Amino acid sequence: MALWTEQDQQKFNEIVAQLRNWTSQPCLACKSPLLAEDVLYSNALGLKTTPKCLPCLAKGLEQNQTELKSTLLQHIRRRPCLCKAFELSTGAQPAELDCNFIPPANQPLSSTNSPLIPDLIWDAGDLGCGDLVLLLRGKLRAMLPGKLLKVTAFDPGAPEDIPAWCKMTGNRLVLQQHPLYFIRNKD
Ligand SMILES: [Zn+2]
Repeated sequence: MALWTEQDQQKFNEIVAQLRNWTSQPCLACKSPLLAEDVLYSNALGLKTTPKCLPCLAKGLEQNQTELKSTLLQHIRRRPCLCKAFELSTGAQPAELDCNFIPPANQPLSSTNSPLIPDLIWDAGDLGCGDLVLLLRGKLRAMLPGKLLKVTAFDPGAPEDIPAWCKMTGNRLVLQQHPLYFIRNKD
């Protein structure tokens, strides 16, 4: 389970500002007023400065609206900042949206000063997708079994990619607090 980080808070503040700017403004394509949800869907698709309503987004992507919405909700659920903004703007979580992070109020701040002492520190920067896990594999292979690797990975896909990769390869993800990941090399 991911914790709420300072970065999440920053992103969250940005999204709240976008919601204020764009909700009820006309959709850039069809001119109908945007719902808060539309603003968040647009954000998730990388259209934070050119938001459109869901029907127009679906049309632009040549996708079925219901399927697109479901995909977007899954995406939002995995991103604490978007997830919290969704809750805030809609007043409730839709059934599909089960935010799996610890909200700020419950965050044990002291846990950010983790006692975990890494044997190796690797800054993966913005590396994403295939490159990230490829190099991660190499790092762990060069380490002795049971040793702890601390990875910093800013790629927005890292919160899904790294845990999935660890699970697949049998390495243990000891702590996940994007962009920080502590991985115990499998024995
Ligand atoms: Zn529209």
